[in-house]
Amino acid sequence: MLKNDQLDQWDRENFFHPSTHLADFARGDLPNRIVTGGSGVYIEDRDGTRLLDGFAGLYCVNVGYGRTEISDAIAAQAQELAYYHSYVGHGTEASITLAKMILDRAPSNMSKVYFGLSGSDANETNIKLIWYYNNILGRPEKKKIISRWRGYHGSGLMTGSLTGLELFHKKFDLPLAQVIHTEAPYYYRRPDATMSEEEFSAHCATELDKMIQAEGPDTIAAFIGEPVLGTGGIVPPPAGYWAAIQDVLKKYDILLIADEVVTGFGRLGSTFGSQHYGIEPDIITIAKGLTSAYAPLSGSIVSDRVWKVLEDGTDAFGPIGHGWTYSAHPICAAAGVANLKLIDDMGLVENAATVGAYLNAQMKKALAEHPNVGEIRGEGMLCAVELTADRKSRAPLDAGLKAGPSVVSGMLKRGVIARAMPQGDIIGLAPPMCLTRAEADVIVNTTADALNDVL
Ligand code: PLP
Repeated sequence: MLKNDQLDQWDRENFFHPSTHLADFARGDLPNRIVTGGSGVYIEDRDGTRLLDGFAGLYCVNVGYGRTEISDAIAAQAQELAYYHSYVGHGTEASITLAKMILDRAPSNMSKVYFGLSGSDANETNIKLIWYYNNILGRPEKKKIISRWRGYHGSGLMTGSLTGLELFHKKFDLPLAQVIHTEAPYYYRRPDATMSEEEFSAHCATELDKMIQAEGPDTIAAFIGEPVLGTGGIVPPPAGYWAAIQDVLKKYDILLIADEVVTGFGRLGSTFGSQHYGIEPDIITIAKGLTSAYAPLSGSIVSDRVWKVLEDGTDAFGPIGHGWTYSAHPICAAAGVANLKLIDDMGLVENAATVGAYLNAQMKKALAEHPNVGEIRGEGMLCAVELTADRKSRAPLDAGLKAGPSVVSGMLKRGVIARAMPQGDIIGLAPPMCLTRAEADVIVNTTADALNDVL
């Protein structure tokens, strides 16, 4: 095993870390953490520090760490057949079984699964399929995609454009021209404090309708949204939001993509967020929870309506020209099969509902009265604590204070990982779905201690 100094030096000399302040890291101002192991909700680093992972990696290790049911399935598949492609009708037992398992769990109007490797490439696939769909239907102008400010859909060229967070656009010449952003369903920061949740939902739908009218309904192909905004601050929708939005989309024949990369496979306490909120999508994006991140795998679940057009299209225009070498990679598919079985066997969707509700309730009990806590919100195994300078005016904290990151680093010192959401004033929690009540108590007490230290 390499010595710590050697690893540290190689890390800073050779490794280009994503989403990182590169200069701080090169200078050594940003510490590195080299993770060596994990079990249940805990990870361990090279120095032997054990940390409760309150963010499940990047909200993806849903079954927890060290599950041999999945690692054994990966090893068995690698030994039997490490790879074969899935082009022109090829497949493996693992990939075919996984597609069936996904569709058994998905809303009933879903028809087929196209496999990718990441949430980003799945959303790229979705947009290509929708453009192809509209071209086949003879409406080549219907191409623009509406996304939401604060949405997160990946960091490719198209998906970075769909993402509605400035950090992912800045200096990258994004968003691309085909993408426009509408208002986020962010009730805490509603334009008028007197609005009820239903009124705010109606307001969001009206803004969307106005945008579609201004752009021309015949130019808008699709709307993409996460059932609960994730990276944009962990924001569940206000009451009536999805019904109001879907009414507008139906009026103009605009397809709906539910980006369930975070919410898919149980995080909200329902298998899909679409089922949780009565969303009827035309395409669903899945990734993270599909394998609990034991291997990289994503998917685009395509509805009957979209599938029929694609299928007929190939009769008219020939094979669909879209594919990745690693689509439906058998090792990743085997991980997916074992993971979905484990979620069922451990009852993790139910656990996300009950322990998630407990985590949110306890967090409210501990912190709702704190003068700098503006809102505590969540759904299932997602929880956010939003800080404010003043509870009444909901004014943001002074940007220079960096309170969110300070609380998160205080929690880390006490042994719990949380995430300072990119907005800085929101502490995000998305623990593995196997969290127990006792572990939820540790998270709540640690958040309260760290917050009381900083503010
Ligand atoms: N969509 C959502 C809702 C996400 O949260 C993410 C990643 O966090 C993505 C898409 C992109 O997934 P990936 O990072 O696997 O490309």
